Amino acid sequence: MTPPFQVVWFKRDLRIHDHQPLLEASKCGPVLPLYVVEPHFWAQPDASARQWEFCRECLEELQQELTALGQPLVIRVGEPTTVLRSLLRQGGIAKLWSHEETGNSWTYKRDRLVRRWLSEQGIPRQESPNNGVIRRLHHRNGWASMWQKRMGAERVPAPDFLLPISGLESAQLPTTAELDLQSDLCPDRQRGGRIAALELLDSFLDSRGRNYARELSSPLTAFRSCSRLSAHLTYGTVSMREVSQFVRERSCSPAFIERLHWHCHFIQKLESQPSLESQNAHRAYDGICKTEPERLKAWADGRTGWPFVDACMRALRHTGWINFRMRAMLMSVASYHLWIDWRDSGEVLARLFVDYEPGIHWNQCQMQAGTTGINTVRIYNPIKQGLDHDPQGVFIRRWVPEMSDVPLVHLHTPWTMNDKDQQLARCVLARDYPLPLIDHEDAARQARKRIWAVRHGESYQQEADAIQLKHGSRRRRRVDSRPTNQGCLKNQAPGQLNLNLSDPQINSG
Ligand SMILES: Cc1cc2nc3c(=O)[nH]c(=O)nc-3n(C[C@H](O)[C@H](O)[C@H](O)COP(=O)(O)OP(=O)(O)OC[C@H]3O[C@@H](n4cnc5c(N)ncnc54)[C@H](O)[C@@H]3O)c2cc1C
Repeated sequence: MTPPFQVVWFKRDLRIHDHQPLLEASKCGPVLPLYVVEPHFWAQPDASARQWEFCRECLEELQQELTALGQPLVIRVGEPTTVLRSLLRQGGIAKLWSHEETGNSWTYKRDRLVRRWLSEQGIPRQESPNNGVIRRLHHRNGWASMWQKRMGAERVPAPDFLLPISGLESAQLPTTAELDLQSDLCPDRQRGGRIAALELLDSFLDSRGRNYARELSSPLTAFRSCSRLSAHLTYGTVSMREVSQFVRERSCSPAFIERLHWHCHFIQKLESQPSLESQNAHRAYDGICKTEPERLKAWADGRTGWPFVDACMRALRHTGWINFRMRAMLMSVASYHLWIDWRDSGEVLARLFVDYEPGIHWNQCQMQAGTTGINTVRIYNPIKQGLDHDPQGVFIRRWVPEMSDVPLVHLHTPWTMNDKDQQLARCVLARDYPLPLIDHEDAARQARKRIWAVRHGESYQQEADAIQLKHGSRRRRRVDSRPTNQGCLKNQAPGQLNLNLSDPQINSG
């Protein structure tokens, strides 16, 4: 038997630096750093092998760092309450330390179970904030200054050493097959671990991010010019405070700093209202979409017949990442043109994103699907997006190789090829590459009509006002959700149909 130990439960905070629970616990006695691999979590429909592989690399590095401090990471496989019960039997738990987590509905329920079990056992627990998300917040007034305060606070150093605990066995990290995860080829996935995160941050600040604001929208430049830190922020190999302080110490685009703020702004919405993962933010949209499985499959496989859309989906499948604008376009095409329910398309994207972060993801999905009630509805024209962001068709040719010989004049609209053109290009439609699922212009018009039919009346507006009060950014005017005749305004971004134009921000809100 060992004396009671301080258990530090690592979840999505896989680092030893700027880790308040670890430092505080180390001042109170021997620390047991614990990671629980939860097979039920990895069996959820939003989890995937690519995410586990990334997480596993982060854990391997964390394991080395903790070993160097004196006490290696203890890995257990199972339900956290069962694991804690066995640790209690082995020596006792003086206190459970962890970071607050805003995860999906599964982790929300699991955390409640753990809290209940701890209080039944009379074991104290301490949770610390992990980013700028505020627990038990009732409205958004003053949120931005609270975020600034948290980000400006001094970073927490790693402990100098950890007192070793003897006699504790640790499991091996399971393989994807052992976790029963479906095979999920992602050959160009980013590498996990803090070393990779710090290298990314350094190269971004040193050179890659020089033209960030100009180059973040095109997938031709974004893979290099964006920071690519999202998966590291999701698994916590670096903290949001570390990133925001490092970027302020060196010169960096204000557009980037603004996005760090958005990260927490979106997660805050899910923290304040966990139902946003599965329910329309504005209930007037309930039941208006019905997913046709063949359309969902064609979209998810990158076989819609719209080359730029398919190229983006295939690039995402191959790398586990795509830039914001293309995520928004993929969601917009699924939601408006294909009239797919955002929960179905969102689940496909969640599994494909190595950086899947429920708070950002589900709120962005709802925003791009137009169900928030407080954001501009933007229907992206998938052909215009391709012409704007891949004018020479380089990205299309790379990711849709069956079209490599199609001349540029037809590349974005292959259905304009006649039989002879198709033979010459060695790309026969419906055989080598699909015909478009539908007429995109007609589908966009239909979608606009259906959405406008919902967005009217005092009760719609009242609910939208309540949503704005609870979740909306305080940095902009209220959005008037009533349908207007302003189909196209001068400042409308090219390639998209706006229904409502009083919201100056595309991404936040
Ligand atoms: C439908 C949809 C789903 C999304 N799902 C996720 C997700 O699961 N996980 C995720 O991290 N991001 C998500 N995003 C937001 C955004 O696309 C990614 O954060 C960004 O592309 C990640 O790349 P990066 O780290 O190079 O970002 P950079 O452009 O370098 O930005 C730096 C950081 O700022 C934050 N950030 C950037 N853009 C946004 C944004 N629009 N909203 C909130 N935070 C932002 C991220 O933490 C990002 O790592 C989603 C966007 C859409 C439209």
